[in-house]
Amino acid sequence: MRIVFFGTGGAGSSPYRARVCIGIETNDVSILVDVGEGCGSRMIELNYTLNDFDLIFISHEHLNHWAGLFDALVYTSIYDRAGVKRLKLVSGPKNTDLLNKVLSYMPKNLRDSLEIAYVTENGVRYGDTVIRAIEVQHTVPTYGIEVRDSSIQLFYSADTYPVIDRVYQGLKPNIIIHEASLTPNQRDIALTLGHTTLDDALRLREHVQDLLVIVHLGWENEKYLKNISMPKNVFIPSDKTLVSI
Ligand SMILES: [Zn+2]
Ligand SMILES: [Zn+2]
Repeated sequence: MRIVFFGTGGAGSSPYRARVCIGIETNDVSILVDVGEGCGSRMIELNYTLNDFDLIFISHEHLNHWAGLFDALVYTSIYDRAGVKRLKLVSGPKNTDLLNKVLSYMPKNLRDSLEIAYVTENGVRYGDTVIRAIEVQHTVPTYGIEVRDSSIQLFYSADTYPVIDRVYQGLKPNIIIHEASLTPNQRDIALTLGHTTLDDALRLREHVQDLLVIVHLGWENEKYLKNISMPKNVFIPSDKTLVSI
C-alpha cells in the first residue's frame, strides 16, 4: 500500500499546509481521500492528476475537505491530454445531498466525468481490497474510511471526536490517519465541535500495529509539538510526503 499526503492541513492549520487530501493506492484500486484547498497544485507538483485515482472520497460537507476539487479537475483537464477520465465521487450513505451539491459546484464542462456512488459500512470490494465508510462523530454527517488489502488495514478518521470503541471495536489497524485540530486544553471545544485534541490523538498510538499519522493539525498544535518528544510510532507528515508500507 502506498499513501501520498498531498495536503495535511485543516481549517485553521498552518498556511504552509494544503488542506487535507490523501491518496491511498493498493494493487487493486486508488482512492483520493478528501480534496481540500491546494490539493490540485500539490498533485501536479508530484506528477499526479485526478486520473491516477478511481474513487474520490469526500468525508463530509465542510469546505476544507472538498473545495480543492474544482481546481484539481481543471488541472487534470489541462495536464492530461486525454482529458478527465470517468471518476467516482463517493461518500457514506447520509451524504446524498452533499455529493449532488459538490457536483453542482464543479466546472460545467467537466461535471459529466464525475459519477456519484456510495460506500457503506458493509464495504465494497476491488480485487483483494475492501473499502468501508464508517460514520464518525462530528457536527454534520461524516465518514471515515477503512482501506484493507491482503496485508494492510488503514483507517482515516476524517473530522471526529476520537470514537475508538465505535470505530475500532478491538481491532488494531496497521495505520490510523487521525485528525488533531485542537490543543490539549481545548477538550471541551473538541467535545462540542466533534474534533480531536492533540493529546487524545496521540493516545491512539496504542491502537495501531505500525503507524499513527496525525493530520489536520491545528496551527497552535504545531507550536505545542516543539515541546514534546514524538513517540516512535507517530508520524506527522508535511505536504507531498509519500509512505509505502
Ligand atoms: Zn476539517
Ligand atoms: Zn469538519
